[in-house]
Amino acid sequence: MESRLNVDHILSPQSHVSLKAGRIVKAEAVLVAIPFQSDAKPVWNFTGAPKNTFDTMLVRIETENGFVGWGEAFSRTEDVALKNLIETKIFPLIVGEDAAAISKIKFKLEFGLQNFGRVGPTMYAISAVDIALWDIAGKAAGLPLVDLLGGAFAQNVNVYASLLRYDSQEGVATATRQAISRGYRYIKLHEVNYPEIAAACQAAEGKASIMLDVNCPWSVAEALAMDARLADLGLLWLEEPVWPPENYRGLSRIRAEKNHRIAAGENAGSLHDFAAMIDAQAIDIAQPDVAKTGGVTELLKISALCEASAVEFVPHCALFGPGMIATLHINAAQRNVPLLERLYCDFEAELFGGATIPKEGKLFVPQGSGLGIDPDPEVIERYRVK
Ligand SMILES: [Mg+2]
Repeated sequence: MESRLNVDHILSPQSHVSLKAGRIVKAEAVLVAIPFQSDAKPVWNFTGAPKNTFDTMLVRIETENGFVGWGEAFSRTEDVALKNLIETKIFPLIVGEDAAAISKIKFKLEFGLQNFGRVGPTMYAISAVDIALWDIAGKAAGLPLVDLLGGAFAQNVNVYASLLRYDSQEGVATATRQAISRGYRYIKLHEVNYPEIAAACQAAEGKASIMLDVNCPWSVAEALAMDARLADLGLLWLEEPVWPPENYRGLSRIRAEKNHRIAAGENAGSLHDFAAMIDAQAIDIAQPDVAKTGGVTELLKISALCEASAVEFVPHCALFGPGMIATLHINAAQRNVPLLERLYCDFEAELFGGATIPKEGKLFVPQGSGLGIDPDPEVIERYRVK
């Protein structure tokens, strides 16, 4: 990859020198798939056999003044179709625009592409652009993103280990104990059967809190039965119990039983989906994903809606690229700093040189300007999907 001006070299975080971001002159989608090690299966299985690699769909935006911003779109199983969509439908609409006009660019993309879906790949792509533009805004201001969002309530954020699916009592209990030994005090399971869920809760007893995410497998009747059966396990929340994800009436039916706090939102597309969820009394915990739900700009709106609706704001984050870093900044800027999600697996190579590996269950908010850290060009080249 060609070498680029690194703005952090000319602007320290303390400099407070403001430069104009300038017009967008170049945009590039870079798909990276890095192998990971885990004894478990990935929860996703979108194209046949699951692969133990993890996608990071990077969007790199460059301005006439030499600023480079990085964003991320949600991607799985080497999603070349999404990369093509970004290159052919998104980039022609943003090159030439003033990179500082983040909301205007976001509106232009959303309005222009509304017929291509308000939830899904088009919104993932728009989310990536939004994140990259916020990165540029921070770099141009000489401030970390968290300072643009009103400043940090915490320098580090508690992380929860989001386990993959083990489908065995021994497997999930071993992983739970290992995560606790690595310093995690919050662990989320992706099991769907009672024996595995109970085994993990037993392994964690007194040492860590357990959340359960089942990824929308059940009818309302099935979910009601499981909700009652799981009630004595002391789960911190129950996530996406009913099919389909937008079955807000179904969620509200489960929530009305008061056995669990109900979490959902990773499959939503915008602020208005969360308004509908909240109107339906479907959720206690809102989980927008910065790389799916319209980027930093949309998450700020959703955060405000949650505050005014007495709903907890805990962003979803099954990401390891700039989307994860953006979520870290967003979480640190909340008065009640939400837990940050991190899928529990170990990578063959690290995009950020280990900055996204928690220590004692915590991650520090990068202090450099913008997202504060750029992905490693060598790792990008080694794992790039051509
Ligand atoms: Mg989930």
